Amino acid sequence: MADGCACDRHANVYLSVDHALERGLSVADPLTETETLPLKQAIGRVLAEDCTSKVDMPAFDNSAMDGYAIRTRDLGDGPVFELPVAGRVAAGDPGDHDAPEGSALRIFTGAPVPPDFDAVLMQEDCDLVIDRVRFSRRPKPGQNIRRAGEDLFAGGPILQRGCEIGPREVAALASAGYGEVLVFRKLKVTIFSTGSELRQPGEPLGLGQIYNSNRYMLLALLQKPWIELNDRGPVEDDPARLGRVLREACDTSDLIVTTGGVSVGDEDHMPRLFSEIGGETDVMKVAMKPGKPVIFGRRGRALYVGLPGNPVSAYVTWQIIGSQMMARRAGLRHMPQTPVQAVLAEPLHRHAGRQEYRPAQIDGTSPDGLPRLRLMAPSYSGRVALLAQADGLVIIPAEAEDLPAGHTLELLRF
Ligand code: AMP
Ligand code: MG
Repeated sequence: MADGCACDRHANVYLSVDHALERGLSVADPLTETETLPLKQAIGRVLAEDCTSKVDMPAFDNSAMDGYAIRTRDLGDGPVFELPVAGRVAAGDPGDHDAPEGSALRIFTGAPVPPDFDAVLMQEDCDLVIDRVRFSRRPKPGQNIRRAGEDLFAGGPILQRGCEIGPREVAALASAGYGEVLVFRKLKVTIFSTGSELRQPGEPLGLGQIYNSNRYMLLALLQKPWIELNDRGPVEDDPARLGRVLREACDTSDLIVTTGGVSVGDEDHMPRLFSEIGGETDVMKVAMKPGKPVIFGRRGRALYVGLPGNPVSAYVTWQIIGSQMMARRAGLRHMPQTPVQAVLAEPLHRHAGRQEYRPAQIDGTSPDGLPRLRLMAPSYSGRVALLAQADGLVIIPAEAEDLPAGHTLELLRF
């Protein structure tokens, strides 16, 4: 493999975040398998076809108001107009009324406007006297009528392949006549947390032990209708066991996400184990803070994302790179989050070198109306409880060293 491999010669090469992301995305091939599902079951899944409307929208001229349908040609000079009400048409009626010339029809929102009628009066602008409607404002032809096809003609584009079918999308598909829809099959994801020190929350902690927070963080991050999740729980730092679990996960999953064991310590087994089972490492070190030890690779069609053990590092590397690789693998169109501008509440002093994604709280608004940020203290990669109080990750460029209060940076909001 060219640059970025895990061999000794390249082991110290750090990739920029952009480069690492680009490379990670380039190996995250989208799923090819699809399935057709009834619309209700497709909610939350990833659309696998471009969709066009099966019908004109709306399908027929209909009333935008509750009121009275009239023919403007029937109106005299005014100032007051009066017409007999010859019938009634409600939503769901066929709308084939044949009202005599010079009459009005009582009509309700969504009801078809019968042929020849060319305006609807709002009932608030009318008086009904016995069975005659009286009004004083002359309606314009077309008023309060939603014309057939004015939103979209049959064959017009609705949605593109690769979108997540959320509330708006599923409503659009329903209105366009889709009883079923083609979606990508679910992405099979296996997760496990490495570390002999890990205990389940709720259990007593022994000396040297900590609670496993990464497992729950990943469970939450991966709780998606388009994921079939296999949670292998914690695995102790025993190379034989880790290797077995990793191999089995690679054999059965589209994506494997682990935490811990990717650094340079003696108990950091994952990079070596991954290459021993035939994995190809595409990214080993990224010039980002937090999270420089992180591994992205593949074995056959399985993608491997080995996140650092420190929970904030794991969260950040997942959000910035891993989650985007996953989204692409699942068939989602790549849509990076757009950062917002924000300003520092206090001066920032740091060492230049790595692009940083530092958790920050929004604390009021600057005189220019931008969010004002308070940043977490510099050594935060393990402080996951504080992460829960942050509002986003502020992006500090690699070369930034001393930044004054009021300096503008980009913020990725949670
Ligand atoms: P590692 O990357 O395995 O060297 O771990 C780095 C740090 O993260 C160590 O202090 C670990 O104890 C901690 N850590 C590793 N895995 C987890 C986890 N699942 N939950 C919470 N902390 C972890
Ligand atoms: Mg470890």
